[in-house]
Amino acid sequence: MNNVRVRFAPSPTGPLHIGGVRTALYNYLFAKKHGGEFILRIEDTDQTRYVANAEQYIIDALDWCNIPFDEGPNKNEKFGPYRQSERRELYKQYADQLIASGNAYYAFDTAEELDAERTKAEAKKEPFIYNHSTRQKLNNSLTLSKEEVAAKIEAGEKYVVRFKMYDTSFENDILTTTDLIRKDVSFKLFLLDDKVLYKSDGMPTYHLANIVDDHLMEISHVIRGEEWLPSLPLHISLYNALEWTAPQFAHLPLILKPVGKGKLSKRDGDKLGFPVFPLEYTNEISGEISRGYKEDGYLPDAFINMLALLGWNPGTEQEIFSLEELSQNFSLERVSKSGAKFSPEKTNWFNQQYLQAKNNSEVAELFTAILTEKGIQANAAYIETVVGLVKERAVFVKDLWDLSDFFFTKPTEFDEKASKKQWKADTGSLMNEVIEVLKPIEDFSSANVETILKEWITAKEIGFGKVMQPLRLSLVGALKGPHLFDIAAMIGKEATLERIQFAIHTLG
Ligand code: GLU
Repeated sequence: MNNVRVRFAPSPTGPLHIGGVRTALYNYLFAKKHGGEFILRIEDTDQTRYVANAEQYIIDALDWCNIPFDEGPNKNEKFGPYRQSERRELYKQYADQLIASGNAYYAFDTAEELDAERTKAEAKKEPFIYNHSTRQKLNNSLTLSKEEVAAKIEAGEKYVVRFKMYDTSFENDILTTTDLIRKDVSFKLFLLDDKVLYKSDGMPTYHLANIVDDHLMEISHVIRGEEWLPSLPLHISLYNALEWTAPQFAHLPLILKPVGKGKLSKRDGDKLGFPVFPLEYTNEISGEISRGYKEDGYLPDAFINMLALLGWNPGTEQEIFSLEELSQNFSLERVSKSGAKFSPEKTNWFNQQYLQAKNNSEVAELFTAILTEKGIQANAAYIETVVGLVKERAVFVKDLWDLSDFFFTKPTEFDEKASKKQWKADTGSLMNEVIEVLKPIEDFSSANVETILKEWITAKEIGFGKVMQPLRLSLVGALKGPHLFDIAAMIGKEATLERIQFAIHTLG
C-alpha cells in the first residue's frame, strides 16, 4: 500500500476513554504495518466543550502506551498546525466554495424561529428536519434574494452555512459506499438533515474541519469509532462536492460492557471496580479523580495487548503479542463488525502474563520503587532473590508487597485465627527448644537448616506441623509465604531467632 497516512483526531473534552486509546492503537498499527505515518490532530473547534488539560492528557496517554505519533502538535509539523483552533482561517474558503458551487447555503434562522418550526411540526406529529422538505420555506439564501443576503451579512446578522444534503434534483437518493470493516453501507440521503458546516463566529463545525483537514493532511485511511458511521454520508458528499478524492473509511466496533448491553462507560468501571481511562484524570472543575490503568499498576504492554484483541483477532490461538508483532499481524479485514465485550478479568490475566514473562531483575526494579515509597531500603540482589521466590503468585507488581513484606520487616502482630489454631499451650516451650537447635548452626542455608530441624523433629517423634506452623507464624506473622527455610535463610540466623523470641513473648 502506498503512502499510508492515518490520523487519530480526538476532541480535547476530557480524559481519553479506552475506546479512544484502541482507535489510536489501530491507527498506529495500521500505519506501522504499511510503513506509513500516524498523525495526531486535536479537534478543538467546539469551544464550549474544550477542556484545558485534555490535550496534554491525550499526549501523555499515548506516550505511556508506547504508541508515538509521527506528526502532531509540536512534532514534525509538516502539515501543521495540528490543532484545529490554530487553523481556523483556513476553513472559510471551503465553506465559500461550497456556497458558490450551490452545495451549501447561508441560513439566518434564529433559535426562536427554529423552535417555532419544531412546535408546528410536533402539532402535526412530525419531526422537524432542516432539509429538502423544509428549506424552501425557511430563512436562508435559497429563499432570500442575493441583495437581502448581502444586506444581512453586512449588518452583522448571525448566520450558519448549511450543507445541501439532498435535493430532489439529485440523481440518487441513496448513497452507497464501502467501509473496510462493514463492506457495502447504504444511507438514505433524503432522510438526513442539512448539517451546519460553518458559523458566523468564524468557527467551522466538526464536519467541515474534519474533512478539510483529512484532505489537506493527505490522510489515506480514516479509522475511527462506529459512532461516526452516521456522519459518513455527509463526509462522502462533502468530498464529492469539493471534488476531492475521499480517503478510505473503517469504522471500529464498540467496546461493550462486561455484563449487559451497551457501550462500556465510566459508570461500569466505577461499579465493577476497574478504570476506563489509561491514566488517572483529575477533573479541573469538580476535582473528581478518575482511576487510570497506569496508576492501578497495569503494565503498558499488557494493557495494549488486551486492547488490540478487543475487536481484532489474529485468526490463530495466539494471545500474547508484542507491539512489534501486533503491527506485523494487524489487518482491518480481521477487525470484527460487532461490539467487543470488555473483560476486567482478562485484562488482569494479560497483566499477569506480562509480569511473569519479565525476568526477576526487571520486576525487582519496578518493585524497588514501591519499597522506596514505603521507606524500605534493601540491596538489589536481595530484592531480586525475594522477587524470584514470590513472583509466580503476583498479578501486579504491587502484589509483591503482600507476598513478601516479611522479607523486609519483622512481624509486629500475628494473624489471630492462625495463632489460635497453631499456637497451643506447649508451643512456647517447644519454640524455645527450636531456638536452641538453630543457635549453633553455622551454615544457615535453606537446605542445611531444613535438614537439621527436620532431623530434630523426627528424633523428638512429634508431628512436623507442630513445629513448622508456629515457626512460619513467628517468621511471617501469618501462614503465608514461600518455602519456610528459604525465608529463614534469607532473613538470616539473627533475625530468625529474634522473630521466634518475639512470637514466644507475644503469644505465650
Ligand atoms: N473529533 C472526533 C472525535 O472526537 C474525530 C472523529 C473522526 O475520527 O473523524 O472522535
